[in-house]
Amino acid sequence: MEAPWAINNHNTHRAKLRFVRVRWWRDGAPPPKGYATRSPYTCKELTLDMETSKDKKDSDAFDVVRLVDDLLARATDCGASDIHFEPTADEMQIRFRLDGVLNTVETLPSLLRENVVSRLKVLGGLLTYRNDIPQEGRLASNGDGTVVDRRLAVFPTIHGQRAVVRLFYDDPALADLNELGFRDKVLANLKQLIESNGGVILLTGPAGSGKSTTLAAILRHITRVTPGKSIVTLEDPVERHIRGVTQVQITPQGTMTFPTALRSLLRQDPEVLMIGEIRDAETARIAVEAGLTGHLLLSTLHSGTPSGALLRLLEMGVEPYQVTSSVLAVVNQRLLRKLCEHCRRKDSATGQWQAAGCEKCFGTGYHGRALVAEMLLMQPSLREAILAKSDANTLKRMLEEQGHTPIAVEGCRLVEQGITTQAELDRVSA
Ligand SMILES: [Zn+2]
Repeated sequence: MEAPWAINNHNTHRAKLRFVRVRWWRDGAPPPKGYATRSPYTCKELTLDMETSKDKKDSDAFDVVRLVDDLLARATDCGASDIHFEPTADEMQIRFRLDGVLNTVETLPSLLRENVVSRLKVLGGLLTYRNDIPQEGRLASNGDGTVVDRRLAVFPTIHGQRAVVRLFYDDPALADLNELGFRDKVLANLKQLIESNGGVILLTGPAGSGKSTTLAAILRHITRVTPGKSIVTLEDPVERHIRGVTQVQITPQGTMTFPTALRSLLRQDPEVLMIGEIRDAETARIAVEAGLTGHLLLSTLHSGTPSGALLRLLEMGVEPYQVTSSVLAVVNQRLLRKLCEHCRRKDSATGQWQAAGCEKCFGTGYHGRALVAEMLLMQPSLREAILAKSDANTLKRMLEEQGHTPIAVEGCRLVEQGITTQAELDRVSA
C-alpha cells in the first residue's frame, strides 16, 4: 500500500547540522489539522531542530515512511517481540522488547510523534483520522516469512497516541515440547500426565513467562502422539494457530465469555480443553468440573508458586475435595535471559558472571532465554494438606521437607553455570 503522506526533506543548514526542513504534501487531500494549504498540494514546511535528535548526521532519518520501515526491519533482525512507540511530554521513545525486557533504541523529536503513528496506522489499515479511540489492526507480513504475524495497537494518551507492534515469529524450536528446556524429570512427568483421560493441569507464572508457548507445545504434542483426540481451546486472544486444534476466540466484554463458551463446549464432549486463563470463580468451577468428568483440562492461573495456584482455586470458591481430585499437577515456570556468549565476563572479585553488552546482543548483555520450571504433582500428602485447609506457609514447609525443588533453586543452578546472572534471577523472582 502506498503511503498517503510523504515527507520531503531539505537539509537547509547542512553545514551547521542544526536545522532540517520537513515538507508534507499529499495530492488532493485535506491538510492535517493546523497545517497551511497551498494549492495544488496541501503543504506545510516544518523546521526541525536537529539538536533535539540523536541522529545528527542523516536528515533522511526524518523520512517517516523509511523511518518506520527501518524500525520494523531492525526489530525483526534482532528478534524483538514487540516495538513500543511511546510519546512523552517532549519526545517519542522507541523501545524494543528483547528477551522479555524493554530497551530504548531510539528517541525521536516530538514533532514526529503523530507522523510516525499515522504511518503505522496506514500500514495497519486503521482509521488515520481518529486519534481519540483505541484501535487494533494487523500489519502485512514482512515478506521473508520469519514473522508470521504483526499486530498493531494504538492508544490515545495525554501526550498523543501510543502504538505497540507485536511481532510473532515462526520458531520451530518453540513448537516442540521436547525443545522448550524442561528438565528430563519434569518433561517425562508432563508427557505422561497429558495422556490422561481427565484432570486439570495448571501452568503458573507472571505475564511473559512463556506459559502460552508451553500450552501450545503441549497441544501440538497431544495432536502428534494421539492424533484422534478432539481438542478445543478457548483463548483471549488466539495468539498462534495450531494445526489439528479447534481454537475459539473469547470476547470477555461480549457474549462469548469463558464460562458461556465452556459450558456449551462441554456438551460437545471434547477430550482435551485448553482455557487461556482462569480469571474468575465461575470459570474455575466449570474448569474443575470438566476435569472431574473425563476431560483433560489445561489452563493458566496467575500465581507466584505452584501451591499458591491451588490455594487460589480454593479462594475462588472451588471446594478442597474438588481441587484434590481434579488437579493432576501444577507447573510453575519463568524465562531467564541468557548471558550473551560474546560479551559476558567474570567478575574477578566475586567470581560471578556478569552482563556487559556488545553489538551482537544489542548492548543488553543478554541473548536468548532459558526456561526454569518446577512441577508440583498431586500426591497423597499434598491432598491431605489441602483437605485440612493448610495455609501457604504450611504447604511450603511440607513441600520443602519432601524434597521438592523450588524454582529459585533451579535458577541458582543456571547462575552458577554462568548461563544467567543473579540480577536476572532476582528480576523474574520479584
Ligand atoms: Zn553481547
